[in-house]
Amino acid sequence: MAGGTSPASNMAFPFGRRLPCDIYWHGVSFHDNNIFSGQVNKFPGMMETVRKITLSRAMRIMQDLFPLEYNFYPRSWILPEELPLFVAEVRMMKDNNPSWKPTFIVKPDGGCQGDGIYLIKDPSDIRLTGSIQSRPAVVQEYICKPLLVDKLKFDIRLYVLLKSLEPLEIYIAKDGLSRFCTEPYQEPTLKNLHQVFMHLTNYSLNIHSGNFIHSDSVNTGSKRTFSSILCRLSSRGADVKKLWSDIISLVIKTIIALTPELKVYYQSDIPAGKPGPTCFQILGFDILLMKNLKPVLLEVNANPSMRIEHEQELSPGVFENVPSRVDEEVKVAVIRDTLRLVDPQKKKKKDTQCQSWEQAGAGEEPPDAVAGAEAALPSLCLKQVFPKYAKQFSYLRLVDRVAALFIRFLGVKGTTKLGPTGFRTFIRNCKLSNSNFSMAAVDILYIDITRRWNSMGIDHKESGNPGMCLQAFVEAFFCLAQKKYKSRPLHEQVALLIEQCECRLAALQGQRLLWGCGLGERPGAPPPARPQRQRVFGLQKPAQLRALVCRDSAGS
Ligand code: ADP
Repeated sequence: MAGGTSPASNMAFPFGRRLPCDIYWHGVSFHDNNIFSGQVNKFPGMMETVRKITLSRAMRIMQDLFPLEYNFYPRSWILPEELPLFVAEVRMMKDNNPSWKPTFIVKPDGGCQGDGIYLIKDPSDIRLTGSIQSRPAVVQEYICKPLLVDKLKFDIRLYVLLKSLEPLEIYIAKDGLSRFCTEPYQEPTLKNLHQVFMHLTNYSLNIHSGNFIHSDSVNTGSKRTFSSILCRLSSRGADVKKLWSDIISLVIKTIIALTPELKVYYQSDIPAGKPGPTCFQILGFDILLMKNLKPVLLEVNANPSMRIEHEQELSPGVFENVPSRVDEEVKVAVIRDTLRLVDPQKKKKKDTQCQSWEQAGAGEEPPDAVAGAEAALPSLCLKQVFPKYAKQFSYLRLVDRVAALFIRFLGVKGTTKLGPTGFRTFIRNCKLSNSNFSMAAVDILYIDITRRWNSMGIDHKESGNPGMCLQAFVEAFFCLAQKKYKSRPLHEQVALLIEQCECRLAALQGQRLLWGCGLGERPGAPPPARPQRQRVFGLQKPAQLRALVCRDSAGS
């Protein structure tokens, strides 16, 4: 195992590590070191994907498709480009419901630890505060009625292991942290809007309050375990089982919203069919509980703090790092179990044991030596939730399939943006253009949407590339779906168009296979271009493809 850019790892390998490692533990991102094998604890593009603006956009796409399923994310607008929309929508909602007295929270993009966050009562207050032009931000509906414990607002930090993207594997830690405000909570008024110790639960802010309590116990003080809160809720008669199931569902749905973008980054850094590392990542989910126990997603952290110490002021101006029992209890288990789950030795041992067991012609169950070694360790704190609950959520994975189409037509190795030729080939191969939608209209659609997305100044890996990013492609795809399948709910329109595209591409692939074998009738025109590249996230299901080839060769 090798560390990344952390000071400790630099001390261990001051001149860099020459030999390949099983596991690379990077401090910040996938790109901390060049690696070509083994496993690395970061996914390419994760930091970009969970930034406030990108996350809000990904959630918006899912809210458009599945409004009820994604109502755990507060209504959000992106500044500066959606300021007029924000103003108009708030005005409309107020007109419809004059008793609605909302509060909004403005969060700068890329900020963390509460940096630059402020609350407002009216959209016009945005212009008066700070220069939003220089700092893009998200403005979000503020949850005014959070669940309180000891009259204080708190949030939950849950640790989630994304063990694999394809196939999707998600684990959730059974315990997390609850981080408390340090001033008793009051619903927002013009008078208390600026009181950060009342409204923001960030540890990094509240630690500076005179009221912050460091405690040796996990169920008192300003940072507690989430399990201690659950015990308390359970003793008050709350349905804690339902709460956990809602949290699991929130985590799975959020990751489903993030995977399309992550897959685009992944194929650009780790091309399919080439040797390369595999990735896993520990994510920090920040969740707020509403008074009615409904969990709300605040944000996802790509690099959650794994510190198990806190600073203590021994005498004025003299600080010392002391162990924090709560942090230790939760975080040590998360790191330990992550390493257990990705342990390459375990996999190797298991494979060899299975092999020798099979060679010996024994029954179905291999000997349980691996399980024996495991038994010596504490039971796993990371609980698998996906694929365990995959069936319940598979219908939500529509944008994943749109991303698979996008990736298929990307063409140039290492890119994350689609050029105009790739877009035209997509339209042509999927037979989406017709007398009502000419290729000239296709070009206009491409230019319109791409230009708008590129003018938004989004912090993207390829900001200088004028091509179409995934989210712009998704917008174009939804537009085509709405045009083709009018008057149905959006998710049905999109699902139908995906099916059409996948079928047409499978048929095309079938034809190419037949031509390759010298079978099938070849039309006079030259064959369409060969698929640009084999990719991990291919579209065709082998069985579907075989069926098409059979039908074609039977002449039907
Ligand atoms: P940061 O990355 O700067 O910590 P967050 O999105 O986590 O930004 O917000 C900081 C804090 O603000 C949260 O911990 C939470 O206490 C509060 N907060 C954020 N969004 C909301 C919201 N929509 N409603 C109520 N409180 C919120």
